[in-house]
Amino acid sequence: MADRMGLPFGDTADFADAERGLIDAGDPVVRNDKGEVVWDNGSYSGFLTGAAPDTVHPSLWRQSTLVARQGLFEVTDGIYQVRGYDLSNMSVIEGDTGIIVIDPLISTETAAAALALYRKHRGDRPVVAVIHTHSHVDHFGGVKGIVSQGDVDAGKVQIIAPEGFMEHAISENVYAGTAMGRRAGYMYGAALSRGPEGGLGAGLGQTTSTGTVTLITPTVTITATGEELTVDGVRMIFQMAPGTEAPAEMHFYFPDRRALCMAENATHTLHNLLTLRGALVRDPHIWAHYLTEAIELFAGKSDVVFASHHWPTWGTENIVEFLAVQRDLYAYLHDQTLRLLNLGYTGPEIAELIQLPPALEQSWSAHGYYGSVSHNVKAIYQQYLGWYDGNPARLWQHPPQEKAKRYVEFMGGADEVVAKARRSFEAGDLRWAAEVLDHVVFADPDHAAAKALLADVFTQLGYGSENGTWRCEFLSAAMELRTGNFGTPAATASADIVSHLNPEMLFDALAIQVDGPKAWDLDLAIRWDLPDHDASYRTTLHNGVLTYVKDSSRPVGLTLTVPAAALTALAGGNLAAARGNGLTTSGDESQLASLFSVMQPGNPDFNIIEP
Ligand SMILES: [Zn+2]
Repeated sequence: MADRMGLPFGDTADFADAERGLIDAGDPVVRNDKGEVVWDNGSYSGFLTGAAPDTVHPSLWRQSTLVARQGLFEVTDGIYQVRGYDLSNMSVIEGDTGIIVIDPLISTETAAAALALYRKHRGDRPVVAVIHTHSHVDHFGGVKGIVSQGDVDAGKVQIIAPEGFMEHAISENVYAGTAMGRRAGYMYGAALSRGPEGGLGAGLGQTTSTGTVTLITPTVTITATGEELTVDGVRMIFQMAPGTEAPAEMHFYFPDRRALCMAENATHTLHNLLTLRGALVRDPHIWAHYLTEAIELFAGKSDVVFASHHWPTWGTENIVEFLAVQRDLYAYLHDQTLRLLNLGYTGPEIAELIQLPPALEQSWSAHGYYGSVSHNVKAIYQQYLGWYDGNPARLWQHPPQEKAKRYVEFMGGADEVVAKARRSFEAGDLRWAAEVLDHVVFADPDHAAAKALLADVFTQLGYGSENGTWRCEFLSAAMELRTGNFGTPAATASADIVSHLNPEMLFDALAIQVDGPKAWDLDLAIRWDLPDHDASYRTTLHNGVLTYVKDSSRPVGLTLTVPAAALTALAGGNLAAARGNGLTTSGDESQLASLFSVMQPGNPDFNIIEP
């Protein structure tokens, strides 16, 4: 049974699954030790009930009411999940003497609260192992809230992760981190007030917690499909899935419980091939391949499949169907984009042409609450062919502000464009109104009527979005047009993660901060002795480029002795903190001052909807 939007509201299985096994809803608010709120699920669950209001797409409203459910749930005998305590889920597997925790959320505070909720009902069982399904922060950041580095070092706790986990966990946000952080503020709607006219979730989960982010180096690395491991009496069989939703990711099967964990590769949404905050494009072809392999290896002998977001699916037949729908979704988008691209269509054209098969449209889990058909198709085009569509009229266009000035002049001036855009808005052509008003705002950032109308246009686009992140993007843009730039509400690179960067990553982090033109005339050669890393590097700054080489005997003007903490401080551009952490120098000290005089850190407050 479908409603007039074609949505299968008659299918209510997700509501039963999202409630199944509830033991205790727990506390919706988690605070840090200063008493500050780092998580407040009640700010969503309080209003997400009943029918969708006019300000929310009914399909997104449904998804958000499901995702906002929280508590401790029994998944199957000996397997539990705490959901709604962060963006992601924490799963608990009971062993002979203790527990294995899968994916300890983003923050130590939410992870500790989730574990406490579990222990309240299942006893004070010790954590004997932690599994990180993949290298994204919502699957490892809370680790020190449930285990200590000391217990890991003493061999009391194993940290299990897929090959490449550490490298990707710490590198993903380093190079483009400032830009991703600012854009993530739009994508997750962190600045929006929560309610039917504001933020109500990001489709995958409600939002990100804002507590303490940590990381522990894994002690066990999984490298091959078919690899088996028994921890505390719990048997596990692994399937590697690198290059899918994350560059390092794995699935695993519990044969004694007939349970399958699909990490983040099969959830109740079309996921992102390219997140709106910006990232490297993910490969839907490989993604579909690993889903097929999971069906072949495990689905037929599973009674439940669970993931690190959303609710589980029970019943072998349902599991096979669910995984097949997810697989078909990514494969269809990939194959059809390639078919159309080879007919000469460009990304924006293919995004309009592709329609999902009716059977996928009728499956809630194939709907785009986090990823969307539109932006995923453009990502596939980008993956194969890049930003340029082959038409040289689009090869060397003016940048946005220059283009905007010319468009607005050709179209009769700002006031005329705003008057026409108002008619488009009233006629319901919101996409066109947004495009032309964007030109006015970029040509004339002080044009109050243009900004006000564009804010209204974005608001309506947000209210009409089925996709949670699109809604957040539009409503965040409207908010900035009305009340100004909100900067980066939630920073991501924690001190604990930065402290895990190796020297070469830190030199890379420094190199991308060099202000090229300012450094054109500098010629520096510095030796860095790193006692904590038992290594020595020679860096040069020449032609505005900082390069490094290990163990070079070539001459230098200055030698630095840099303990690990001082190196971390230097990579952040903080010379004073580096000295405070034991940095010592010998030679021409002016070289260090010269190097740091040309460092330009990123700006977390850069403009997006204004020039
Ligand atoms: Zn995640």
